[in-house]
Amino acid sequence: MGSQPNSSHAIVLRQIIYGESDLIVSMLSAEHGIIRGFAHGGRRSVKRFGSALAPFSSIDVRWQASRSDLLTFLDADLCCAREALRHSALRLGLAYYGVELLEMLLNPGESQPHFFRLLQGYLDALAEDQNPRQARLLFELRLVQQLGYIPHLLHCSDCFVQFNHTPVAFDPARGGSLCPACAKDTQTLHVALGTLGSLSRALHTEIGLFRGFKLGERTLDEGAMILAQVLTNILPRQSKSLRFLAQITSFDAS
Ligand SMILES: [Zn+2]
Repeated sequence: MGSQPNSSHAIVLRQIIYGESDLIVSMLSAEHGIIRGFAHGGRRSVKRFGSALAPFSSIDVRWQASRSDLLTFLDADLCCAREALRHSALRLGLAYYGVELLEMLLNPGESQPHFFRLLQGYLDALAEDQNPRQARLLFELRLVQQLGYIPHLLHCSDCFVQFNHTPVAFDPARGGSLCPACAKDTQTLHVALGTLGSLSRALHTEIGLFRGFKLGERTLDEGAMILAQVLTNILPRQSKSLRFLAQITSFDAS
């Protein structure tokens, strides 16, 4: 048992230098979810790993199970390095943010091919210079949906009435959108019905598809506020990459 190597298409999430020449690498694989293991000689072995183990690379990787929680990676071939991500602090920060969310919210070793397609589409969108705010919103929205936390959008979370006018109140702690009668006396976010419609439509597309969307500024602003509230409710701790992103975007604006 454990003698046959496994292989999969995977995206590198993170690498930690271990000792003189080894790496501990975590990846999101297409078929086995998040996997972690040693790449012995990973810092030096050009023959077995080349430059394939840099974060955000798509690779084909082979590994062997071991007695510990950590696998042993045998070799890897680079499919796509997404080098363009490294030309922009904002895009690189958003890539780290996406990886951090997945690491916080997914259980290692569970096969979750839709999360693989989601991360692949998101990183490609960032590397291809698509609107970074839109890429982030689509990523967060679909991630939350896949985890089963998508709030009620186009009807009231309390009384289920369908909305036909704007604005709508929104409170993730109460399940999402609220009609004026149910929202009264609570301090909640108010968003346009058009925003909720756009978010709802985006959820009916293939999870890895990021091209072809043209969300307006208002949808991007209000959608970001909604997702920030929803994520605050489900994340086990604050995101470190978001703090970094806040620093660089305030720097950009000055
Ligand atoms: Zn209501």
